[in-house]
Amino acid sequence: MSIAENLQQIKNSIPLTVTLVAVTKTKSVTEIMEAYDAGQRDFGENKIQEMVAKYELLPKDICWHMIGHLQSNKVKYMAEFVHLVHGVDKFKTLVEINKQAQKYNRIINCLLQVHIAKEETKFGFSFDEITAILNNQEYQSLQNVKVIGLMGMATFTEDETQIQAEFHLLSQYFQTLKVKYPQFTTLSMGMSSDYSIAIMEGSTVIRVGSAIFGRR
Ligand SMILES: *Cc1c(COP(=O)(O)O)cnc(C)c1O
Repeated sequence: MSIAENLQQIKNSIPLTVTLVAVTKTKSVTEIMEAYDAGQRDFGENKIQEMVAKYELLPKDICWHMIGHLQSNKVKYMAEFVHLVHGVDKFKTLVEINKQAQKYNRIINCLLQVHIAKEETKFGFSFDEITAILNNQEYQSLQNVKVIGLMGMATFTEDETQIQAEFHLLSQYFQTLKVKYPQFTTLSMGMSSDYSIAIMEGSTVIRVGSAIFGRR
């Protein structure tokens, strides 16, 4: 199937209220344009420099999502244009995004990444750490970042019960925060292999790469 057909099939299978981010890491500008020409406008990359290079070559009405682990010293390159930063996993990074956003007189939307998987290697905060940040005065003084929700990645496993349990836990925590913080609108969870489970558990944004563009 073509990129356009894959996109259409995924779109037909998800609610209209769920945003589909097409993950284009390692994919060429030609492949991205095929998705763009099929109407796709939200694209995700996991490396800042790769995203910047593609931003410069591609149409300017694309919404660029930074979905990967962030190095603070590279935040400055994307501050002018990034649409949503999914993977904030250090308070220090949020401070840096705020600083760089200020230079462009922007407010950059961010998600805090939560560690829900069993693997040690996946990045992210614990629930307690997130609560601590939200109550922190320095956080509350940041004028140029807006935390609009959470992001999480499930364990890499075939065990769907476990994946569902991890998404469920994250979703419950998100719902709790949403009551207290009305700006919490966005829950980014679900990739090619598990987006259906994520949506059942209340995801509002899915990040899908290989199911659209094929294997990397
Ligand atoms: C690569 C990546 C995805 C997409 O993964 P697929 O399995 O190709 O859909 C989603 N989220 C993050 C953070 C990624 O790095």
